[in-house]
Amino acid sequence: MNDENEKLKVCCEYCDSYVDADDNEVCPNCGAPLREAIIKAETKRRLEKIDEEEKQRKILQEEREAKDRDDIFDLIKTVAGSAAGGAIAGGLARAAGEFLKEDLKGAFKKK
Ligand SMILES: [Zn+2]
Repeated sequence: MNDENEKLKVCCEYCDSYVDADDNEVCPNCGAPLREAIIKAETKRRLEKIDEEEKQRKILQEEREAKDRDDIFDLIKTVAGSAAGGAIAGGLARAAGEFLKEDLKGAFKKK
């Protein structure tokens, strides 16, 4: 992430040296004007900042959605652990009991 206070560095198009854009309007190495390079660098930095904000926004949104899912999951767990969950567990136990009875009846019939 870019620091707001970080000095903008530009690459001189003529001698390929990196210089502080804030301090130099012309390249201290070769004297070439840096205006265009500065504009390019500032535009790039702005675009990167927008990109960064967009990323942050997406991350926050995804976190919110994930939290919503967690909330629903928690709700399901809570319900499952309470009366409804007990009813389901009871139902399963009864069904298993019925199944065993049927099985036993079958076993007796065979004899
Ligand atoms: Zn230069």
